[in-house]
Amino acid sequence: MESLLEQQFGTPVTRQPVSQPVSRQILHNESLIHYHQALSDRSIFNNCLHGLANTDYHHTEGTDTALYRTADKAVQKHINMLDGLALFLIFRGRDRKSQSVVATGMIRETRGVKIFYANNSSRQASREQRDYIDKLVEKFKNQHPVNDILKHVIQFCKEKIVQRCKKLAAKFDMNSTTLREDVSNFYGIRSDIAEYTEIETTLRDQKWIQKTSSLSTALDTFLRCAAKLTRLSTTQDIFDVLCLAYALTTITPGMENLVKPPIWRRMKKMADYRKICIRTRDIVRTIGGSSASITVDQLFPPDELEYEVYNSTLEALNTWSTVYPSDSPLQDFELQLKEYYPDAKEGQSGKIKILFSQHCELTVANYLLRLKTATKSLLGPIEIGCSKASCFWCDLYLTELNDILPKYGRVINRATHGNLCNGWMMPQALPGYENVNREVLDCIGRQVETVFAYGNDRRRKSDSLPLDREALPQDDGKEEFAEPKF
Ligand SMILES: [Zn+2]
Repeated sequence: MESLLEQQFGTPVTRQPVSQPVSRQILHNESLIHYHQALSDRSIFNNCLHGLANTDYHHTEGTDTALYRTADKAVQKHINMLDGLALFLIFRGRDRKSQSVVATGMIRETRGVKIFYANNSSRQASREQRDYIDKLVEKFKNQHPVNDILKHVIQFCKEKIVQRCKKLAAKFDMNSTTLREDVSNFYGIRSDIAEYTEIETTLRDQKWIQKTSSLSTALDTFLRCAAKLTRLSTTQDIFDVLCLAYALTTITPGMENLVKPPIWRRMKKMADYRKICIRTRDIVRTIGGSSASITVDQLFPPDELEYEVYNSTLEALNTWSTVYPSDSPLQDFELQLKEYYPDAKEGQSGKIKILFSQHCELTVANYLLRLKTATKSLLGPIEIGCSKASCFWCDLYLTELNDILPKYGRVINRATHGNLCNGWMMPQALPGYENVNREVLDCIGRQVETVFAYGNDRRRKSDSLPLDREALPQDDGKEEFAEPKF
């Protein structure tokens, strides 16, 4: 009978039952190391992923993807728009993590567009959420006022929006119970500089702040309002905060130079909601407004699956040593891992349950690829929007997929945050693209082997380790930091 893992991975690779692991000798003798054979064992795969996440989670810096950086301006703009649309479809906050990230894709048609979206959960949108989406589309088509559209979005995307607002307040050590009333001028902007007066005047003239308010007071109030927000806050309270974030980041040039980059990024994330309402409304007008055909369909990943793995990082990684074509299991966390991976977490003995899910960008990418292959319309890039940057594994998967796609039909998404996520589920191999899955598994195997090499060989991380290099997705462009899309 086909195992769950085989269903996930598509064409099963030949493997030994767990009770009779592939011998190290066999793997060695083949000389070409097929790590995917070892990783076709579900338990080894899950444990290795968990072990890697605990060992080297912040694997690389966040960057825009090479394909995005080198894409046409029009393609970049389109992906940015899809990123934005994803924000309008996040109905849950951190409490339902798998529903708090959304990816989007789009197919253009003669009289309009078909929009597709997915999150990491296979849970279907509720009737109320469906109605919200239908109404949102109608509002865009009928060119409703931006503020009306934004308020509609706030009602349904409240949890995520509130989280974003509170993250800014948290940067100033404020939350709903600590409003720091004894402090003023949190932003620390000097009032005797030209930019201050310019921003203050613009905000007053355009009625974003009261005529009698100083910029400094308005910013303090803005932060306290953001800190106070909860999921029970009124739409109007949230709306006011988002609007000032929009004004501060969009219509007052110079503000960017007065605040630190992390603060600026958080403010922009709050401002995005209003900005995207405006952009989307404009785009809908250009494709025909009320006469445009716009559909929004949810795509479903496989069900999330909970698996038990070893809590201890060493134990989890050592499941690999049953098939690992090398010397010995890791024995000592401090000496063999911590020394080379300072952020490594030891974990306790026993087992831990981890929820594995297929990440939304891969669900959308594979669906659009299948659709384009079926209709033989692989002529343009497959543009994917996402509410946050992709993890290391999704980025790797897309890189391997793009390696075998024609140049003009590649999948392009905005960015990767480079983290080795735990609980990552490999999509079922698409017919004709089975090699993608094998390559990804081989790369995961190389990552694990690299950890063992550091540990057992006691090599410094700075020493050249070809395996580690190979394990990284190819990226020949210059590094450019993306704004993490949380
Ligand atoms: Zn991912």
